[in-house]
Amino acid sequence: MHELRQNKKTNVESRQKLATIRQQNSIESPDVENKSILEAPTPTSSKNFVPGRYEAVWIPDNKATKCLMAGCDTKFSMIQRKHHCRQCGWLICDRCVGTAPVKIKNYDSVKVCPQCYYEIKDLFEKGVLFPSHMIRILGLSENSESSQDFSRLSIDSSNIRIAYEDGSSLEKPKDLFRAPDSGKLMKIKNPLEKDGTEEYIVSGKVQLRTKKGYEINRWGRFSRDYNLDFFEAEFDDSPAEKFFVYGYTLSVVENEDGSHVFELLHRNQFQTDRKEEKIIFKVLHSGSAAKWLDTLKDMLIYDG
Ligand SMILES: [Zn+2]
Ligand SMILES: [Zn+2]
Repeated sequence: MHELRQNKKTNVESRQKLATIRQQNSIESPDVENKSILEAPTPTSSKNFVPGRYEAVWIPDNKATKCLMAGCDTKFSMIQRKHHCRQCGWLICDRCVGTAPVKIKNYDSVKVCPQCYYEIKDLFEKGVLFPSHMIRILGLSENSESSQDFSRLSIDSSNIRIAYEDGSSLEKPKDLFRAPDSGKLMKIKNPLEKDGTEEYIVSGKVQLRTKKGYEINRWGRFSRDYNLDFFEAEFDDSPAEKFFVYGYTLSVVENEDGSHVFELLHRNQFQTDRKEEKIIFKVLHSGSAAKWLDTLKDMLIYDG
């Protein structure tokens, strides 16, 4: 990388350049790296939960290396397959798959994550999951007043049937619900949500230089607390590499292909020449590079 030309522009010049990059970016390629997380479903609480009106956006398979339920540590592999919750699109493992009738799937009993399973079960028990014309209570006459009371349903009730549109099938509730083996787990927090413990101010796809000098794909995040974390995949909740970069010096090299190499150096480096105090990563996407540069310049000591 050293043979590549160093970008020694003045602050004013590089600011102008950044503005141009940002303009181009907004016209030609709206921030590709951050788009998926904005579109991803956010965890719903049972309070404001509305039964699915729209198809869930599925989290792409490559966005996580482990199950996205908090407290489940299953690492995905050839054997540990990935599944998608049909209600919310979350990526989950075998143990976390349950089945439940999902509204957007015409109440078919389909794969759901543990959080959605218990939310849907709760709606069923309150009598608000199915429209009332789909609920039949056996052994009650049509005009009986209590036949309209669906406020305390149970999955195990033997006298309840769910009538599907074509009228040909009447299903027992317990045949529509199967609880996930892993139990009542909640989804991990979306890493970029504001109410997280740390607020990340810039993030995106990067290539991190290892000590041996080769580049590995990572999802980088930088927080207000000067934590620079690198994750194997965007939705992973624990970083593969973690650095505290308060007081580091930043220098940036722009390559001819438009990628930017960020080099973070601890000041002690100059006295001790300790290589482990140097962090080097490359940002390929120019719009993303502009954001990294803007943010790191404000927080670190900028060295052109
Ligand atoms: Zn779900
Ligand atoms: Zn799991």
